[in-house]
Amino acid sequence: MEKIAYELIRSDRRTMGLEVDTEGHVRVRVPRFTPRWRIDAFVEERRAWIEQARARQARRQAKLPHIREEDKPLYVKRAKAILPEKIDRYARIMEVQPTGLTVTSAKTRFGSCSAKNRLSFSWRLMAYPEAAIDYVVVHELAHIRYKDHGRGFYGFVASVLPDYKDRIRLLQGR
Ligand SMILES: [Zn+2]
Repeated sequence: MEKIAYELIRSDRRTMGLEVDTEGHVRVRVPRFTPRWRIDAFVEERRAWIEQARARQARRQAKLPHIREEDKPLYVKRAKAILPEKIDRYARIMEVQPTGLTVTSAKTRFGSCSAKNRLSFSWRLMAYPEAAIDYVVVHELAHIRYKDHGRGFYGFVASVLPDYKDRIRLLQGR
């Protein structure tokens, strides 16, 4: 059987931990002086779990939209066409006041809200269903009132979009 390749991160921790990222890469975190043979054995014992996790990630990735960089101009155009109206509509409902809008090329975050309540959205979000886009808009608007992701924050989001958990799944391919 082929050995499972992994990225190794040594640190001041007490136990070994293992994760599979969205691309199926294995990352192992271990206490600083753990011998290599113990790490290899640890990974090998988890072979079945790793394969399941990889299959799950692959299914997820397959459900997500395939975004082509060359379509960026179209997505940016769409973002500028639909986001102001959505922001306006939800800001009214939520009684919050954003200070501006920026369209970014961020790859790992769909949106953000600055300390000064300026909202940013990645053009990549435009490849997702409308229900998912609305969720990200409401999420960032909710940050105008709550700067964290605590209970108050999600309570506020749920008061506007009671099905917000289903919408998050659209963004994650679950
Ligand atoms: Zn957030």
